Amino acid sequence: MKYVLAGASGFLGKALARDLVADGHQVVRLVRRTPTSADEVRWDPARGDLDPGALGEPDVLVNLAGANIGRPWTPTYRRTIRESRVSTTSTLARVAAQLDGRPVLITQSGIGGYGKDLGDQILTEDTALGDGFLADVVRLWEGALGPAQEAGSRVAALRTGVVLDRKAPAFQLLAVPFRLGLGGRLGPGTQYFPTVSLTDWLRAVRHVAEHDTLSGPINVALPTPPTNTEFTEALATALHRPALVPIPAFLMKAALGEFAWELLGSKRALPTRLQSHGFTFHHPTITPTISAALA
Ligand code: NDP
Repeated sequence: MKYVLAGASGFLGKALARDLVADGHQVVRLVRRTPTSADEVRWDPARGDLDPGALGEPDVLVNLAGANIGRPWTPTYRRTIRESRVSTTSTLARVAAQLDGRPVLITQSGIGGYGKDLGDQILTEDTALGDGFLADVVRLWEGALGPAQEAGSRVAALRTGVVLDRKAPAFQLLAVPFRLGLGGRLGPGTQYFPTVSLTDWLRAVRHVAEHDTLSGPINVALPTPPTNTEFTEALATALHRPALVPIPAFLMKAALGEFAWELLGSKRALPTRLQSHGFTFHHPTITPTISAALA
């Protein structure tokens, strides 16, 4: 199959490109700079510029572009977070609608769309999106798929938990205090922490690309979501370090601002749609997920 990847230079994009090429698929990378190899095509998503003719006849377009959400959410940076996701998705949606083969369009999305802190509530793809900045971003991000869907393309939004892998910047950051012997639960520790191994995330993207019946929002997170305490204990055990120093919620909010809710807020999301379409997880619980991430 021929895949076009946006955000191919990022952590997930690089991993997906490597995985696809290793399996014999053709990959075209969209770049915002001058292309340096035959498999790169220039685009300017902020201006909506992408020449459909430069893509040939792709089967799947995947959007993994988006400015890093781990930086302080100033008003200007909020606009960057939002626009980098909406402009890239809408540019791809317009192009998908113009291509004769009507390729599948998959965009990454986030479980943060359900809201900041939802306690024990089970979140499936039928749960309404919530309130707050990230929920608004997700609404617009996924809404940008509209033109492709209206033109007859199959579209899907992967509402993904934190993807764990030793090369993932988020995981490296989470592991730092543990490696120093200063790890501990974050805030109350009772909050559900949606996460998935890189292996299963890659398999989920491929599963969605290859299954014609899968469309719309799709949760990509462990079927047995761990609480933060369970995640903390599993990580400490895997690293052979103690987990004795809980980090209070007020400190995290002071240090990280609203982004702290991504770690402190509870999101008990279940991958209902993936599982009902035959997907099985290689790493269904947190202990093997962390082992795979550290391998
Ligand atoms: P990275 O930060 O590693 O990569 C993001 C990519 O987005 C880069 O390759 C970059 O491509 C592109 N990008 C950055 N800023 C802009 C911008 N202003 N406009 C257009 N493109 C931009 O992210 P990840 O690979 O970790 O994640 C990819 C997407 O998935 C992001 O939207 C992220 O929020 C989302 N996500 C990630 C999860 C994770 O655990 N990693 C979990 C859930 C969602 P280039 O500069 O080459 O054009």
